[in-house]
Amino acid sequence: MIQSQLIFGVGIVFAWLVAPLKADDLLVKDGRYIHLTTDIASVEEAERLVASFDAAVPQWVQFWNMSEDALNDFKVQACVIRNKVKFNQSGLIPPTVPDFPFGYALGNQVWVLAQQSQYYTRHLLLHEGVHSLAYHVFNGAGPTWFQEGSAELLATHHGSGSDIRINRIPQSREDAPYWGRFKRMGQATDKGKVPSFHAVLDYQPNLAGDVATYSWSWAACMVLSSYPEYHSAFIAAAQQGKETGPAFNRELQLSLGKQWPILAARWRLACHDLDYGFDWQKEQVKLSANDPVWNGKNLKIQVRPDQGWQSCGVRIPRGAKLAITAEGEITLADQPKAWVSQPPGITFQYHRGRPMGELQFCLLPNANDPQAKQIEPLKVQSVEDQPTVNVAQYSWLLFRINDACGKLDDNRGSYQVSIERGR
Ligand SMILES: [Zn+2]
Repeated sequence: MIQSQLIFGVGIVFAWLVAPLKADDLLVKDGRYIHLTTDIASVEEAERLVASFDAAVPQWVQFWNMSEDALNDFKVQACVIRNKVKFNQSGLIPPTVPDFPFGYALGNQVWVLAQQSQYYTRHLLLHEGVHSLAYHVFNGAGPTWFQEGSAELLATHHGSGSDIRINRIPQSREDAPYWGRFKRMGQATDKGKVPSFHAVLDYQPNLAGDVATYSWSWAACMVLSSYPEYHSAFIAAAQQGKETGPAFNRELQLSLGKQWPILAARWRLACHDLDYGFDWQKEQVKLSANDPVWNGKNLKIQVRPDQGWQSCGVRIPRGAKLAITAEGEITLADQPKAWVSQPPGITFQYHRGRPMGELQFCLLPNANDPQAKQIEPLKVQSVEDQPTVNVAQYSWLLFRINDACGKLDDNRGSYQVSIERGR
């Protein structure tokens, strides 16, 4: 969370007059990029927060393609807080800071409430630190989706201390207790309330620390920063951080030009699949506005189990009727023994209620309603259950093999899929 109008550090001095915290209640730890004041009990955790922050900053510099000199005088004054009342009373949170549920950044000062897991506390400290860095080098952090999404992107991490790696999706719920981003996104998905890409870009400033807003903003920033064709436009957008209104989005849209419909289609796929362990290297989907319309001739494609959605390379016209058949064998895991699957899948191992190794397909419409606030949920079907398909609108036809998110590395083999005109 941040405030776009920066007011620097007023209020601290006079507020010290009220019931100060006793110095021995507080730990003070100084690092290269952070000066930490905290009432958390563990010296070890405080030291690890400082080491994590100091190791994250050079990775942020690299991510934003900045020269290291830009941060010569960057240092954050951070409070990590268990007892907020005491920090308020002692003026360590000045009265100019609005009430915040998780964290807050104002210039080079950040305040973070200690959470029920070290992971989540560290995440929030990094999140607020990314805001501070944006003020320092870009004079602002852009509109809501960009400021919160990029802060989430660069706060999500593996490891801690000097080993921390930022911009990494946690592998499992156990790796990121109480962080809860995927839980919140899953709830929205279950209710059919996943926002469209445009709706995310239109998020208004929100000081309530709404986890859903943060999560979808993060997802948008992941899509933009993970696909090589959007990456440089995303990085360049940060330079416009001072701009918090619609001009920021207009500029980005302009620089991405004709790629918007493809982006919206990829957004729909990513929202369906994002979860612990999601691997953007393996989940990038090849789609192009220049994909030819299917001419009705038989198509054959190899569907690999070590990749996410795979397009058959053409757009299927409205009114087409397809017959899909598949054969072949894949291996999904080697340990404790090799799991070999054929297109119907392994019926004693399930993922999302469907057999592992099952060949699945979906029709992804070429067109997107730019006015829609929410996206239509992706309808994923199995080739086994649905060998004949009626196509209602111009769509890409995509295949994938059902497997747990983040478990594609050790998969091998392929299914040979034939698509013919149906009767
Ligand atoms: Zn924030």
